[in-house]
Amino acid sequence: MNKNIYLDHAATTYVKKEVLNEMMPYFSKKFGNPSAIYKLGDENKNIVNLARERVARALNAKPTEIYFTGCGSESDNWALKGIAFANKDKGNHIITTCIEHAAILKSCEFLEKLGFEITYLSVDKYGRIDLDELKNTIKETTILISVMFANNEIGTIEPVKEIAQIAKEHNIYFHTDAVQAVGNVKIDVKELGVDMLSLSGHKLYGPKGIGALYIKEGTNIEKLIHGGGQELGKRAGTENVPSIVGLGKAMEIAYRDFDKNNSKILALREYFITEVEKRIPDVKLNGHRKLRLPGNINFSFNGVDGGTLLEMLNLHGISASSGSACSARNVKPSHVLKAIGLDDNTIKSSLRFSLGVENTKGDIDYVLTILEKEVYKLRKI
Ligand SMILES: *Cc1c(COP(=O)(O)O)cnc(C)c1O
Repeated sequence: MNKNIYLDHAATTYVKKEVLNEMMPYFSKKFGNPSAIYKLGDENKNIVNLARERVARALNAKPTEIYFTGCGSESDNWALKGIAFANKDKGNHIITTCIEHAAILKSCEFLEKLGFEITYLSVDKYGRIDLDELKNTIKETTILISVMFANNEIGTIEPVKEIAQIAKEHNIYFHTDAVQAVGNVKIDVKELGVDMLSLSGHKLYGPKGIGALYIKEGTNIEKLIHGGGQELGKRAGTENVPSIVGLGKAMEIAYRDFDKNNSKILALREYFITEVEKRIPDVKLNGHRKLRLPGNINFSFNGVDGGTLLEMLNLHGISASSGSACSARNVKPSHVLKAIGLDDNTIKSSLRFSLGVENTKGDIDYVLTILEKEVYKLRKI
Protein backbone atom coordinates (compact mmCIF):
# COMPACT_ATOMS: atom_id res chain seq x y z
CA MET A 1 0.00 0.00 0.00
CA ASN A 2 2.46 2.64 -1.15
CA LYS A 3 -0.07 5.33 -1.90
CA ASN A 4 1.09 8.83 -2.60
CA ILE A 5 -1.78 11.24 -2.99
CA TYR A 6 -0.89 14.90 -3.08
CA LEU A 7 -3.69 17.22 -2.02
CA ASP A 8 -1.65 20.31 -1.21
CA HIS A 9 -1.51 22.14 -4.55
CA ALA A 10 -2.24 25.46 -2.83
CA ALA A 11 1.15 25.12 -1.09
CA THR A 12 3.04 24.25 -4.24
CA THR A 13 2.80 22.17 -7.40
CA TYR A 14 5.20 19.96 -9.33
CA VAL A 15 6.70 21.32 -12.55
CA LYS A 16 4.89 19.98 -15.59
CA LYS A 17 6.97 17.97 -18.05
CA GLU A 18 6.29 20.39 -20.93
CA VAL A 19 7.46 23.25 -18.72
CA LEU A 20 10.61 21.47 -17.58
CA ASN A 21 11.51 20.50 -21.14
CA GLU A 22 11.46 24.12 -22.26
CA MET A 23 13.54 25.20 -19.26
CA MET A 24 16.33 22.64 -19.54
CA PRO A 25 18.54 24.16 -22.29
CA TYR A 26 18.73 27.45 -20.40
CA PHE A 27 20.59 25.82 -17.51
CA SER A 28 23.48 24.71 -19.71
CA LYS A 29 23.97 25.25 -23.43
CA LYS A 30 21.92 28.45 -23.66
CA PHE A 31 23.43 30.19 -20.67
CA GLY A 32 24.03 33.67 -22.10
CA ASN A 33 23.29 36.87 -20.23
CA PRO A 34 20.25 38.53 -21.83
CA SER A 35 21.98 41.92 -21.53
CA ALA A 36 24.92 40.81 -23.72
CA ILE A 37 24.98 41.88 -27.35
CA TYR A 38 26.41 38.67 -28.88
CA LYS A 39 24.22 35.83 -30.12
CA LEU A 40 24.21 33.77 -26.90
CA GLY A 41 22.89 36.76 -24.97
CA ASP A 42 20.57 38.06 -27.62
CA GLU A 43 18.81 34.70 -27.93
CA ASN A 44 18.14 34.78 -24.23
CA LYS A 45 16.79 38.30 -24.36
CA ASN A 46 14.36 37.09 -27.02
CA ILE A 47 13.34 34.06 -24.99
CA VAL A 48 12.71 36.23 -21.91
CA ASN A 49 10.54 38.49 -24.03
CA LEU A 50 8.66 35.51 -25.43
CA ALA A 51 7.91 34.43 -21.87
CA ARG A 52 6.78 37.97 -21.09
CA GLU A 53 4.42 37.84 -24.08
CA ARG A 54 3.01 34.52 -22.92
CA VAL A 55 2.31 35.84 -19.42
CA ALA A 56 0.81 39.01 -20.88
CA ARG A 57 -1.41 37.07 -23.28
CA ALA A 58 -2.75 34.86 -20.49
CA LEU A 59 -3.82 37.97 -18.52
CA ASN A 60 -4.77 40.19 -21.47
CA ALA A 61 -2.01 42.64 -20.49
CA LYS A 62 0.65 44.28 -22.64
CA PRO A 63 4.09 42.61 -22.49
CA THR A 64 5.53 45.92 -21.23
CA GLU A 65 3.20 45.65 -18.22
CA ILE A 66 4.68 42.32 -17.04
CA TYR A 67 7.70 42.39 -14.68
CA PHE A 68 9.43 39.21 -13.55
CA THR A 69 10.28 38.96 -9.85
CA GLY A 70 11.88 36.40 -7.53
CA CYS A 71 8.57 35.05 -6.16
CA GLY A 72 4.98 35.91 -5.34
CA SER A 73 6.14 37.38 -2.04
CA GLU A 74 8.43 39.80 -3.84
CA SER A 75 5.60 40.86 -6.16
CA ASP A 76 3.40 41.59 -3.12
CA ASN A 77 6.19 43.48 -1.32
CA TRP A 78 6.93 45.50 -4.44
CA ALA A 79 3.32 46.49 -5.04
CA LEU A 80 2.80 47.70 -1.48
CA LYS A 81 6.15 49.34 -0.76
CA GLY A 82 6.58 50.61 -4.31
CA ILE A 83 3.25 52.44 -4.30
CA ALA A 84 3.72 53.65 -0.73
CA PHE A 85 7.19 55.12 -1.42
CA ALA A 86 6.26 56.71 -4.75
CA ASN A 87 3.00 58.27 -3.60
CA LYS A 88 3.73 59.35 -0.03
CA ASP A 89 3.29 63.00 -0.99
CA LYS A 90 -0.33 62.19 -1.85
CA GLY A 91 -1.14 60.35 1.35
CA ASN A 92 -0.12 57.65 3.81
CA HIS A 93 -3.27 55.50 4.04
CA ILE A 94 -3.47 51.93 2.70
CA ILE A 95 -6.47 49.60 2.85
CA THR A 96 -6.11 45.82 2.89
CA THR A 97 -7.89 42.89 4.55
CA CYS A 98 -7.28 40.81 7.64
CA ILE A 99 -7.13 37.56 5.60
CA GLU A 100 -4.20 38.41 3.32
CA HIS A 101 -1.08 36.26 2.89
CA ALA A 102 1.86 37.06 5.18
CA ALA A 103 3.69 38.71 2.27
CA ILE A 104 1.03 41.44 2.35
CA LEU A 105 0.42 41.57 6.10
CA LYS A 106 4.12 41.77 7.01
CA SER A 107 4.74 44.43 4.36
CA CYS A 108 1.90 46.42 5.91
CA GLU A 109 3.40 46.03 9.41
CA PHE A 110 6.70 47.30 8.03
CA LEU A 111 5.02 50.29 6.38
CA GLU A 112 3.17 51.07 9.62
CA LYS A 113 6.55 51.45 11.33
CA LEU A 114 7.51 53.99 8.66
CA GLY A 115 4.43 56.08 9.41
CA PHE A 116 1.89 54.66 6.97
CA GLU A 117 -1.60 54.04 8.27
CA ILE A 118 -3.15 50.68 7.42
CA THR A 119 -6.82 49.73 7.61
CA TYR A 120 -7.56 45.99 7.73
CA LEU A 121 -11.03 45.25 6.37
CA SER A 122 -13.05 42.55 8.11
CA VAL A 123 -14.67 39.67 6.25
CA ASP A 124 -18.01 37.88 6.63
CA LYS A 125 -18.38 34.23 7.67
CA TYR A 126 -17.49 33.15 4.13
CA GLY A 127 -14.37 35.31 3.98
CA ARG A 128 -15.78 38.01 1.68
CA ILE A 129 -15.11 41.68 2.27
CA ASP A 130 -17.98 44.18 2.52
CA LEU A 131 -17.92 46.78 -0.27
CA ASP A 132 -19.75 49.33 1.89
CA GLU A 133 -17.14 48.98 4.61
CA LEU A 134 -14.49 49.53 1.94
CA LYS A 135 -16.22 52.69 0.69
CA ASN A 136 -16.59 54.04 4.23
CA THR A 137 -12.91 53.43 4.95
CA ILE A 138 -11.60 55.45 1.99
CA LYS A 139 -10.33 58.90 2.87
CA GLU A 140 -8.46 61.83 1.34
CA THR A 141 -5.11 60.23 2.18
CA THR A 142 -5.83 56.75 0.79
CA ILE A 143 -3.26 55.86 -1.88
CA LEU A 144 -3.67 52.10 -2.25
CA ILE A 145 -6.16 49.26 -1.82
CA SER A 146 -4.77 45.71 -1.77
CA VAL A 147 -7.25 42.83 -1.63
CA MET A 148 -6.38 39.25 -2.55
CA PHE A 149 -8.11 37.67 -5.54
CA ALA A 150 -8.69 34.37 -3.76
CA ASN A 151 -7.75 33.22 -0.28
CA ASN A 152 -5.11 30.52 0.08
CA GLU A 153 -6.70 28.77 3.06
CA ILE A 154 -10.45 28.78 2.41
CA GLY A 155 -10.43 29.50 -1.34
CA THR A 156 -12.92 32.36 -1.14
CA ILE A 157 -12.92 34.62 -4.20
CA GLU A 158 -13.20 38.34 -3.50
CA PRO A 159 -15.27 40.83 -5.55
CA VAL A 160 -12.18 42.10 -7.38
CA LYS A 161 -13.96 43.83 -10.26
CA GLU A 162 -16.22 45.78 -7.90
CA ILE A 163 -13.25 46.79 -5.72
CA ALA A 164 -11.35 47.97 -8.80
CA GLN A 165 -14.36 50.09 -9.79
CA ILE A 166 -14.51 51.73 -6.35
CA ALA A 167 -10.75 52.35 -6.37
CA LYS A 168 -10.98 53.94 -9.80
CA GLU A 169 -13.83 56.25 -8.78
CA HIS A 170 -11.65 57.54 -5.94
CA ASN A 171 -8.46 57.70 -7.99
CA ILE A 172 -6.74 55.14 -5.73
CA TYR A 173 -4.39 52.38 -6.92
CA PHE A 174 -5.67 48.82 -6.59
CA HIS A 175 -3.43 45.78 -6.21
CA THR A 176 -4.60 42.18 -6.00
CA ASP A 177 -2.58 39.20 -4.79
CA ALA A 178 -3.73 36.66 -7.38
CA VAL A 179 -1.12 34.01 -6.57
CA GLN A 180 -3.81 31.41 -5.82
CA ALA A 181 -6.11 32.47 -8.63
CA VAL A 182 -3.80 32.63 -11.65
CA GLY A 183 -4.08 29.38 -13.57
CA ASN A 184 -7.23 28.40 -11.65
CA VAL A 185 -9.51 31.26 -12.61
CA LYS A 186 -9.77 33.12 -15.93
CA ILE A 187 -8.24 36.55 -15.46
CA ASP A 188 -8.44 39.56 -17.75
CA VAL A 189 -6.68 42.51 -16.12
CA LYS A 190 -8.26 45.04 -18.48
CA GLU A 191 -11.77 43.75 -17.93
CA LEU A 192 -11.19 43.62 -14.14
CA GLY A 193 -9.63 47.08 -14.08
CA VAL A 194 -6.85 46.27 -11.62
CA ASP A 195 -3.65 48.35 -11.51
CA MET A 196 -1.34 45.64 -10.18
CA LEU A 197 -1.59 41.87 -9.89
CA SER A 198 0.83 39.38 -8.27
CA LEU A 199 1.42 35.83 -9.45
CA SER A 200 3.87 33.02 -8.72
CA GLY A 201 5.28 30.17 -10.82
CA HIS A 202 5.16 27.32 -8.34
CA LYS A 203 1.43 27.59 -7.72
CA LEU A 204 0.64 26.87 -11.38
CA TYR A 205 2.90 23.94 -12.32
CA GLY A 206 5.88 26.18 -12.97
CA PRO A 207 9.17 26.43 -11.05
CA LYS A 208 9.71 27.84 -7.57
CA GLY A 209 11.53 31.14 -7.11
CA ILE A 210 9.89 33.00 -9.97
CA GLY A 211 6.98 35.41 -9.88
CA ALA A 212 5.63 38.33 -11.81
CA LEU A 213 3.89 41.60 -11.12
CA TYR A 214 1.48 43.08 -13.62
CA ILE A 215 1.81 46.86 -13.43
CA LYS A 216 -0.64 48.83 -15.52
CA GLU A 217 0.97 51.36 -17.81
CA GLY A 218 1.30 54.76 -16.16
CA THR A 219 1.32 53.47 -12.57
CA ASN A 220 3.58 55.52 -10.32
CA ILE A 221 5.64 52.87 -8.50
CA GLU A 222 9.11 52.97 -6.88
CA LYS A 223 11.57 50.10 -7.41
CA LEU A 224 12.41 47.59 -4.75
CA ILE A 225 15.64 46.19 -6.24
CA HIS A 226 18.08 48.84 -7.44
CA GLY A 227 20.92 48.05 -9.81
CA GLY A 228 21.11 47.29 -13.52
CA GLY A 229 18.53 48.17 -16.12
CA GLN A 230 16.76 44.81 -16.37
CA GLU A 231 12.96 44.53 -16.48
CA LEU A 232 12.55 47.88 -18.26
CA GLY A 233 14.67 49.50 -15.57
CA LYS A 234 12.18 48.66 -12.84
CA ARG A 235 13.69 45.53 -11.27
CA ALA A 236 17.45 45.00 -11.31
CA GLY A 237 19.23 41.65 -11.35
CA THR A 238 20.34 39.31 -14.13
CA GLU A 239 17.25 37.50 -15.32
CA ASN A 240 16.50 34.00 -14.01
CA VAL A 241 16.18 32.79 -17.59
CA PRO A 242 15.27 29.10 -17.03
CA SER A 243 12.57 30.00 -14.52
CA ILE A 244 11.24 32.86 -16.63
CA VAL A 245 10.95 30.43 -19.55
CA GLY A 246 9.20 27.98 -17.21
CA LEU A 247 6.74 30.58 -15.94
CA GLY A 248 5.90 31.66 -19.48
CA LYS A 249 5.23 28.07 -20.53
CA ALA A 250 3.26 27.29 -17.37
CA MET A 251 1.01 30.30 -17.99
CA GLU A 252 0.50 29.35 -21.60
CA ILE A 253 -0.54 25.78 -20.87
CA ALA A 254 -2.63 26.69 -17.81
CA TYR A 255 -4.97 28.67 -20.07
CA ARG A 256 -4.61 26.41 -23.12
CA ASP A 257 -5.91 23.48 -21.03
CA PHE A 258 -8.12 25.58 -18.76
CA ASP A 259 -11.61 24.35 -19.62
CA LYS A 260 -10.69 20.68 -19.50
CA ASN A 261 -8.82 20.89 -16.19
CA ASN A 262 -11.24 23.28 -14.58
CA SER A 263 -14.29 21.11 -15.14
CA LYS A 264 -12.41 18.02 -13.98
CA ILE A 265 -11.17 19.63 -10.75
CA LEU A 266 -14.54 21.26 -10.06
CA ALA A 267 -16.28 17.90 -10.37
CA LEU A 268 -13.75 16.28 -8.00
CA ARG A 269 -14.19 19.09 -5.48
CA GLU A 270 -17.97 18.79 -5.54
CA TYR A 271 -17.71 15.03 -5.11
CA PHE A 272 -15.23 15.40 -2.22
CA ILE A 273 -17.40 17.96 -0.37
CA THR A 274 -20.68 16.10 -0.90
CA GLU A 275 -19.22 12.77 0.19
CA VAL A 276 -17.56 14.20 3.33
CA GLU A 277 -20.85 15.82 4.33
CA LYS A 278 -22.69 12.56 3.63
CA ARG A 279 -20.29 10.17 5.36
CA ILE A 280 -18.89 12.13 8.30
CA PRO A 281 -21.23 13.74 10.84
CA ASP A 282 -20.56 17.10 12.49
CA VAL A 283 -18.30 18.67 9.88
CA LYS A 284 -18.28 22.26 8.63
CA LEU A 285 -17.16 23.43 5.22
CA ASN A 286 -15.19 26.68 5.57
CA GLY A 287 -15.33 29.32 2.88
CA HIS A 288 -18.02 30.07 0.33
CA ARG A 289 -19.92 27.18 -1.23
CA LYS A 290 -19.74 28.61 -4.78
CA LEU A 291 -17.41 31.63 -4.83
CA ARG A 292 -14.31 29.54 -4.19
CA LEU A 293 -11.25 28.27 -6.01
CA PRO A 294 -12.05 25.14 -8.00
CA GLY A 295 -9.54 22.98 -6.12
CA ASN A 296 -10.05 24.23 -2.57
CA ILE A 297 -11.67 22.21 0.20
CA ASN A 298 -11.46 23.29 3.83
CA PHE A 299 -13.31 21.36 6.52
CA SER A 300 -13.55 21.55 10.30
CA PHE A 301 -13.98 18.10 11.86
CA ASN A 302 -15.59 18.87 15.21
CA GLY A 303 -13.81 17.29 18.17
CA VAL A 304 -10.78 16.18 16.15
CA ASP A 305 -7.25 17.55 16.46
CA GLY A 306 -6.33 18.62 12.95
CA GLY A 307 -2.61 18.07 13.50
CA THR A 308 -3.17 14.46 14.57
CA LEU A 309 -5.54 13.83 11.69
CA LEU A 310 -2.96 15.24 9.32
CA GLU A 311 -0.36 12.81 10.68
CA MET A 312 -2.77 9.90 10.28
CA LEU A 313 -3.42 10.89 6.68
CA ASN A 314 0.32 11.19 6.12
CA LEU A 315 0.79 7.61 7.36
CA HIS A 316 -1.62 6.57 4.61
CA GLY A 317 0.32 8.48 1.97
CA ILE A 318 -2.03 11.47 1.82
CA SER A 319 -0.57 15.00 1.83
CA ALA A 320 -2.92 17.74 3.02
CA SER A 321 -2.50 20.86 5.11
CA SER A 322 -3.68 22.32 8.38
CA GLY A 323 -3.57 25.83 7.00
CA SER A 324 -1.16 27.72 4.82
CA ALA A 325 2.22 26.08 4.25
CA CYS A 326 4.05 28.91 5.94
CA SER A 327 2.16 28.26 9.15
CA ALA A 328 1.66 24.49 8.97
CA ARG A 329 4.27 23.96 11.69
CA ASN A 330 3.17 27.02 13.55
CA VAL A 331 1.04 26.64 16.66
CA LYS A 332 -0.65 30.00 16.15
CA PRO A 333 -4.26 29.47 15.02
CA SER A 334 -4.96 30.56 11.44
CA HIS A 335 -5.73 34.29 11.17
CA VAL A 336 -8.05 33.51 8.26
CA LEU A 337 -10.21 31.02 10.15
CA LYS A 338 -10.28 33.44 13.09
CA ALA A 339 -11.42 36.24 10.80
CA ILE A 340 -14.40 34.20 9.55
CA GLY A 341 -15.45 33.75 13.17
CA LEU A 342 -14.28 30.25 14.11
CA ASP A 343 -13.34 29.57 17.75
CA ASP A 344 -9.89 28.18 18.58
CA ASN A 345 -11.04 24.55 18.90
CA THR A 346 -12.82 24.63 15.55
CA ILE A 347 -9.75 26.21 13.98
CA LYS A 348 -7.56 23.41 15.37
CA SER A 349 -9.91 20.83 13.87
CA SER A 350 -9.63 22.25 10.34
CA LEU A 351 -7.80 20.81 7.34
CA ARG A 352 -7.28 22.06 3.81
CA PHE A 353 -7.26 19.75 0.81
CA SER A 354 -6.25 21.42 -2.45
CA LEU A 355 -6.77 19.46 -5.64
CA GLY A 356 -4.65 19.44 -8.78
CA VAL A 357 -4.72 18.22 -12.35
CA GLU A 358 -3.19 14.82 -11.61
CA ASN A 359 -5.74 13.83 -8.94
CA THR A 360 -8.27 11.16 -9.93
CA LYS A 361 -11.65 10.04 -8.64
CA GLY A 362 -9.88 6.89 -7.44
CA ASP A 363 -7.56 9.06 -5.31
CA ILE A 364 -10.52 10.87 -3.79
CA ASP A 365 -12.38 7.63 -3.04
CA TYR A 366 -9.30 6.33 -1.22
CA VAL A 367 -8.93 9.60 0.75
CA LEU A 368 -12.61 9.59 1.70
CA THR A 369 -12.37 6.06 3.06
CA ILE A 370 -9.30 6.88 5.16
CA LEU A 371 -10.74 10.20 6.31
CA GLU A 372 -14.00 8.63 7.44
CA LYS A 373 -12.15 5.90 9.35
CA GLU A 374 -9.58 8.17 11.01
CA VAL A 375 -12.07 10.85 12.06
CA TYR A 376 -14.23 8.12 13.59
CA LYS A 377 -11.22 6.66 15.49
CA LEU A 378 -9.98 10.05 16.74
CA ARG A 379 -13.44 10.99 17.97
CA LYS A 380 -13.69 7.77 19.98
CA ILE A 381 -10.53 8.52 21.96
C1 LIG B 1 2.03 31.26 -2.11
C2 LIG B 1 1.41 32.59 -1.95
C3 LIG B 1 2.21 33.75 -1.93
C4 LIG B 1 3.70 33.71 -1.96
O1 LIG B 1 4.23 33.25 -3.17
P1 LIG B 1 5.74 32.72 -3.19
O2 LIG B 1 6.07 32.57 -4.62
O3 LIG B 1 5.73 31.42 -2.44
O4 LIG B 1 6.57 33.75 -2.50
C5 LIG B 1 1.57 34.97 -1.83
N1 LIG B 1 0.23 35.05 -1.74
C6 LIG B 1 -0.56 33.97 -1.77
C7 LIG B 1 -2.04 34.14 -1.71
C8 LIG B 1 0.01 32.70 -1.87
O5 LIG B 1 -0.78 31.63 -1.86
